[in-house]
Amino acid sequence: MKIALLSRNKNLYSSKRLIEAAESRGHEVRVLDVLRCYMNITSSRPSIHYKGEELADFDAVIPRIGASVTFYGTAVVRQFEMMGVYPLNESVAISRSRDKLRSLQLLSRKGIGMPISGFANKPDDIEDLIKMVGGAPLVIKLLQGTQGIGVVLAETKSAAKSVIESFFGLNASVLVQEFIKEAGGADIRCFVVGERVVAAMKRQGAEGEFRSNIHRGGSAELVTLTAEERKTALRAANTMGLNVCGVDILRAERGPVVMEVNSSPGLEGIENATGKDIAGDVIRFIEKNAKKGKTGTKGGHK
Ligand code: ADP
Ligand code: MG
Repeated sequence: MKIALLSRNKNLYSSKRLIEAAESRGHEVRVLDVLRCYMNITSSRPSIHYKGEELADFDAVIPRIGASVTFYGTAVVRQFEMMGVYPLNESVAISRSRDKLRSLQLLSRKGIGMPISGFANKPDDIEDLIKMVGGAPLVIKLLQGTQGIGVVLAETKSAAKSVIESFFGLNASVLVQEFIKEAGGADIRCFVVGERVVAAMKRQGAEGEFRSNIHRGGSAELVTLTAEERKTALRAANTMGLNVCGVDILRAERGPVVMEVNSSPGLEGIENATGKDIAGDVIRFIEKNAKKGKTGTKGGHK
């Protein structure tokens, strides 16, 4: 197969491992910087161009789209779909999961466990919003944040109020969420490939830190999932429409609650923590599923 890997840097661990896994199985991989892909959106003959050359004959595309380039990146993935190239994750699914609010709404419709969450627009409604999610302590999240930046724990009601007010003052959209204290600063990353959770790790935040992000000094270790956690992760992936993703779960007293679903999950932490060949799982999934024109968005019905 000829596979396009959309990545801004071929030397990143995840890119290197995917290239290695694909080449060792006899595939050809071309790494493309998504921001250098430009598109000709012509009736009946959509095409993608790269540094002066027209791209052709790809069987599959692996999108690894950074959060900061979601808009342009998903447009490029959609263009590949229009050309009949099989996407590991579809553009609509990527856009859906990038929007924290939209994701939670979809998960809630399916009855999947999640922290009680609220969303409002006007300072007048802050009091009631705080009450609605169960009062302080509570977590306030910038809708556009990643890597733990923009996630704040407000210990008291007055702290919550002033933080929300200041975000509103900056015209930023925030999500207000029940604080799952019993998670103890840890979360579980479930790595989903197709209909399977192929690996899982527990990430523990640094001493005194409620955020478990590795970028915030968290550390990872192996974890065994309960049947309920496994089922929750698969249902969340399915709801987002993602074939390959990282589902982040908190262990709440009432059971697993989903925090977010990541459409470009990194391989380094999870392969190191589990010793598994996840890049190989991803490539095997593509071998099994890639077919020309097999994209849900092609007919424009989603
Ligand atoms: P980001 O997209 O920036 O990673 P997350 O929603 O994943 O934002 O939050 C970052 C971290 O903060 C999580 O990994 C988790 O450890 C902690 N966290 C987030 N929401 C809650 C919550 N409602 N209760 C307890 N801890 C939380
Ligand atoms: Mg996170």
